[in-house]
Order: sequence, then C-alpha cells, then structure tokens
Amino acid sequence: MEVLTKTAALIAREDKYGAHNYHPLPVVLSKGDGVFVWDVEGKKYFDFLSAYSAVNQGHCHPQIIKAMTEQAQTLTLTSRAFHNNMLGAFEQYATETFHFDKLLPMNTGAEAVETAIKICRKWAYEKKGIPENNAQIVVCKNNFHGRTTTIISFSNDTNARKNFGPFMDGFIKIEYDNLEALKEVLKNNRNIAGFLVEPIQGEAGVYVPSEGYLKKAKTLCEEHNVLFIADEVQTGIARTGRLLATCGNCSCTDKHCSDIPETKPDILILGKAISGGAYPISAVLANNDIMEVIQPGNHGSTFGGNPVAAAVGIAALKVVKDEKLAENAFEMGELFRTELNTFISTCDLIKSVRGKGLLNAILVNDTEDSSTAWDICMLLKENGLLAKPTHGNIIRFAPPLVITKEQLLECVEIIKKSINAISI
Ligand code: PLP
Repeated sequence: MEVLTKTAALIAREDKYGAHNYHPLPVVLSKGDGVFVWDVEGKKYFDFLSAYSAVNQGHCHPQIIKAMTEQAQTLTLTSRAFHNNMLGAFEQYATETFHFDKLLPMNTGAEAVETAIKICRKWAYEKKGIPENNAQIVVCKNNFHGRTTTIISFSNDTNARKNFGPFMDGFIKIEYDNLEALKEVLKNNRNIAGFLVEPIQGEAGVYVPSEGYLKKAKTLCEEHNVLFIADEVQTGIARTGRLLATCGNCSCTDKHCSDIPETKPDILILGKAISGGAYPISAVLANNDIMEVIQPGNHGSTFGGNPVAAAVGIAALKVVKDEKLAENAFEMGELFRTELNTFISTCDLIKSVRGKGLLNAILVNDTEDSSTAWDICMLLKENGLLAKPTHGNIIRFAPPLVITKEQLLECVEIIKKSINAISI
C-alpha cells in the first residue's frame, strides 16, 4: 500500500470531505509568525500572499492575539440586540483614524460591499430623489468585490458567474481607468447613485490606474451628485504604502501621504487587514448625511460588531500606526520594484513588474492559459517562498508589511533563482 506523506494525507482528506471551490498550491500550513509560515513537514516559507492582503501586520502579531484572547475570555458575542462595551470604542477609534462620522461593522469583505450597495441605493431614493427601484451603480470591468449573488451580477469573470444566475439588475459596467467612459455614463443617465471602484484592481492582476484617475473620478461624481464608493478591502490598511490607497486625509503620520492628493470617498469599504488576519472583520464608513439613511431593522448581522472583533480591530489598527507599516510598505515596495526591474531587464520570461507599496505583481511572458506562472510558484515554494498566480500569467507578490529590508532582498534572490530555473 502506498504510504502518503503528512502533506499528501492532509490534502487527500480535504479533497475528499471539502468542496473543491479553490485550487491551492500543494502545501499544508500549520504555523505562522511575522512574515513566515511553516508547513506540516516543518519547512519554513516567506509568505508572499498574506492571505490576500489580510495579514498585513504579520502572522499572529502578539498585540493582536493578546487583545483577541483577553476579549475571548471575557465576552465574545452579544448580538446587536444588546449593546456591548467594546463596539463603541472600535467605532470611535476607526472613525477617528479614517475621518468619517460613522462606521457600520460587518464580518467579510463581500458583506461590507453588499452593505455599501444598500446604503448607496437607500441614499439615492431618500436623499437624491431617484425613483424607487431605478438606482444604478456604476462599476468597472474586471472588478473583484466578492462572491455573493449580487456582487457576481456585475462581475465579468466567467468562472465566478457561470450557472449562478439569474443576476441582479442595477449595475452599469465601464472600463477601469477610463475617465471618458465615466463622464459619458454620468452624462447619459440621471439615475446613477454611486460609482464603486477598487483603487487598484487587485484580483484582476494588480492594475494600477493612471496618476490622478481616482481624484478626477471623485470630482466627476461630485459634479453629478453620485457617491464615490472605494472598495479598499485589499488596498486598505497600509498595503499600498499609505494607510488608504485613496488616502482621504487619514490620520496616519506617514510622510509619503502628504505628497499625494486626497480622494476622500463618500463611502469607504474595509475588510481583511482591519483585523490583521486574526478574525473576520469588515466595515463600511461614511459621514452622517449618508449613514443616517440606515435605521433599525434595515440591515444587520449577528456577528457584526461583536466584542472580540472590536478588540481585535482596535489592536490591529494600532499596530499599523505604531509600527509605521504604511511607511515600511512604501519603502520596501520601491526597493522590490527597483530590484525586480533590474532583474527583468536581463530576463525574457518576465514582461514587467507593477504595483504600489507592497501590492505588486509580475507579468509572465507567456499565454494566459499557460502553466508557466503556476510552475514558477511551485519553484518558489521549493525555494521557500509562497505566492500564487492571479489570472493565468500574473503572479501577485504581497508579503506582510512587517518585512525587513534584509528579508525582502533575500526574497528577491529566491524569486530570481526560481525564475532563472524556468528560463534555462
Ligand atoms: N473587495 C475586494 C477588493 C477584494 O479584494 C475582496 C477579496 O479579495 C473582497 C472585496 C471580498 O472579501 P471577502 O473575501 O472577505 O468576502
């Protein structure tokens, strides 16, 4: 009888008892600390995905884990049928950090996007005066905002949509990074309630829009009384070298922030790293004139705003500020792209590197349906670094923001070595 390794046995069990809704790299992780994770065989890796940018503060950050365990031993869940003594503290801390009047707590990114859509529609009917059931929300092609039936209704990813219809009406898709397209749609439709946009399209392959795109898009929205809704689930919480990629006069002390024009969203959507990856937390932030459309009974979640989430959220945001993670992401990101650009100039297999802060990707010089990006990721894994292709021939590199210069340079060497092994 064939004897399976621990890894193979664990993968086989997951395969047998779990739905096949992901295609993971064949590695089984059992421990994490800072920028590192370990597999069940004891092998150590640099984590260059950070759970899709959720573990910005590094794995098992002691301050976040302390806040979580202390709160978990005291009070975990009350539901919102009663008040709890932690939620207000989190709401105050987050609204002061991001400069909004109010926060609505949820759990996952997709739920927060759904929440933002609901707030936007209700605002459109009650404040803007759009006739009921006629509100339209403008979204971008190749967006990724989550997996609910409403959200996939405005996706153009065939895999995400096929056989999940019928879909939800009320969304108009335009080209990303195309101000003319936005201008056109706003001019031709009086029933537009909001423009929902990712400051950088992460899942689509780390597409960074042209300089000034977000600010000009926000101005266009203002001119048409349309809400500018930023989905910063992936780009937020210091990932792109600023506390927010839209950086709406946030209160971070990052010196790079002050050089960049603000694009304060009307509705801000956060998730993932707002908990440092320790707990599912998401949030929607807006000012009173918008958030006041939500009244008791309109929206909710049993777990949203629970005391553990509140304690974890405060701790996770404090770590970002105390450890100057936005600044580190900015500097390490510059270094990473400089190093990789130098390497790429000598290598035919990689077309380009792009990104902001520590949200980066390389574009493999091969067809989208080739296995080259996957093969590179398998070699990276062998060499001690975990990353995953996004779309076919694009590999995203998004390590925890606590990475040091020495660690980053070591990772660059691993990447070069792995790519060179394929090129030969
Ligand atoms: N919005 C963006 C921009 C995302 O990148 C993601 C997840 O990758 C989501 C929303 C959905 O978040 P979640 O997987 O927590 O539902």
